[in-house]
Amino acid sequence: MFHELKRSIRCALPTTCIVCGQNADSDHSICTECGCVLPKLGDCCRRCGIELSGTLVTGSCCTRCRLSPPSFDSCTCVFPYVSPIDKLVADFKFSARFDIGYSLSRVLASAFNAYYIDQAKPELLVPVPLHRNRLDSRGFNQASEIGNVLAKYSGISISHTALSRTRNTQPQTSMSSAAARKANLRNAFGVSKSDTLTGVTHIALIDDVVTTMATTQAISRMLRAQQDCRIDVWCLARASRTL
Ligand SMILES: [Zn+2]
Ligand SMILES: [Zn+2]
Repeated sequence: MFHELKRSIRCALPTTCIVCGQNADSDHSICTECGCVLPKLGDCCRRCGIELSGTLVTGSCCTRCRLSPPSFDSCTCVFPYVSPIDKLVADFKFSARFDIGYSLSRVLASAFNAYYIDQAKPELLVPVPLHRNRLDSRGFNQASEIGNVLAKYSGISISHTALSRTRNTQPQTSMSSAAARKANLRNAFGVSKSDTLTGVTHIALIDDVVTTMATTQAISRMLRAQQDCRIDVWCLARASRTL
């Protein structure tokens, strides 16, 4: 109820920039000046979305993906997970700043629609689920909020129930090693009993921040064990692998 009220207030208020608080002159709620200085990703690996360095160009795969491709087909993010994006995402998640979530998701939706302009779109948007305990304490799933904006601007259906989080895992960022992160997510996700995913051959998996890819890898592996499908990951922000 409280969060519904906050969403209503966001819609009713005049548009202010989510970065500087001044009047915003765009429907992204990011003013022109802040839009120009917000950090952007350069050329990225088409499989994992990491920013490429050296001589690799757009459309390439990073060395890690060439040696060991991830279990999903592509990952696209619109922002690097650096200041002020990290604080904006934290305010969205932990202070229920739906105005920020909406604005950043609008940028993602523009990139999403541009990406599929000359290729087949996903048939279904699937947000990364939160465990029931965390959903109850936070009151909303940030990935679902992002997914709702993508659904609105792409016209693609979204399922908030296709996946479930069956174990209440520790935050991945608290894990000290790749092995620990993988173990933390073992059997953590399930496919719901509903037939939402039946016959779906192209899924867009939605999350807020991709860091180690352990979560998206775990879900993609589980989905692919169930059915043959293309999986494109869409995220607001990409953190470097060293985090
Ligand atoms: Zn601004
Ligand atoms: Zn890569």
